Amino acid sequence: MPETAISALLSPLADRYSRQILFPGIGADGQAHLATAHAAIIGCGATGAAAAALLARAGVGTLTLIDRDFVEPSNLQRQILFDEADALEGLPKAEAARRHIALFNAGVTVRAHIADLVPANIEDVLSPANGIDVYLDCTDNFETRYLLNDYAVQQGKPWIYAAAVGAYAATMNILPRTVEGIETKLPSTPAYEPTACLACLFPKPPTGPVETCDTSGILSTAVNLAASLQVTEALKLLTRQPNLLRRSLISFDLWTGDRSEINTSRPDPDCPVCGRREFTHLAGTGRPHITLCGRNSVQIHEHQRPVDFIAMRARLARHPDIEDLRSNDLLLRFRRGPHTLTLFPDGRAVIQGTTDIIQARTLYARFIGS
Ligand SMILES: [Zn+2]
Repeated sequence: MPETAISALLSPLADRYSRQILFPGIGADGQAHLATAHAAIIGCGATGAAAAALLARAGVGTLTLIDRDFVEPSNLQRQILFDEADALEGLPKAEAARRHIALFNAGVTVRAHIADLVPANIEDVLSPANGIDVYLDCTDNFETRYLLNDYAVQQGKPWIYAAAVGAYAATMNILPRTVEGIETKLPSTPAYEPTACLACLFPKPPTGPVETCDTSGILSTAVNLAASLQVTEALKLLTRQPNLLRRSLISFDLWTGDRSEINTSRPDPDCPVCGRREFTHLAGTGRPHITLCGRNSVQIHEHQRPVDFIAMRARLARHPDIEDLRSNDLLLRFRRGPHTLTLFPDGRAVIQGTTDIIQARTLYARFIGS
């Protein structure tokens, strides 16, 4: 391509990112690195939506998004990437995020996966062979975080933990030892000393009730702080400056101003995951088929085969007590008495209006099949 054509192509981009290029920590080289970088965001709720928006606006070239949920009106208080039309349509969050990102930065490639991250699909979605440089944990549950920790340590890929609940925000960088034979896509990245992993600090997921935004509420400011801290660390990594990454678990309470920090510089040599390399969460059959996912709803994934929406819709339309039956390529939804059933193409369903697993299972078996 002639040089004039190249500069014509480059100039609008240089203008778009001019304020970020001016920032000495990024510069023109850093911006060029971001354009070829690929970040995966696990969970597109409040933290994930904010992180995706920040990374896309910063010019990170490719984003992989994975989320199992759909947009609801109660999300709009804090999930900054979604709007009322998404909630009305009940769009899957990964797809809604992809559409909104395309409106403000069409130069970013977004791969949206509408699914629950489980051992059976983690390789397909998150493999370093897909060119992914970093994983951002934006989930709302420890099951998925321990699964991600296993996978990232196994593959020798960095991941960044983030959590927000109430007015509290926390984040931590996990830099595992790189693994021989697994290519790092950032070839000129200087080597870094590994940090502790999630299991070094907390060998097992918490048992008993854990505070969630469904039980303790959440401030949108806490979410955005968690995402800002997390994305800033990702930008350091993606611009190939791992020496600048924070080596601690840091947390803030925005309401009280309290702040705490735990040093994570040294991996525990006896850690089951990064020390002994026992990947139990990855080897397991994964989460149970049924999970309570808050908001008076139950998720059921009884079978792992695709659903033919056209045939299913025709069958359901004959049921006299089914109302508001609608579907598109992404989901099929209907109301039956006080319950709303949302079915995804892979056979997963969310039943709203109950936390009773037996009742949800019965509804699933009766209307969707086993
Ligand atoms: Zn460890």
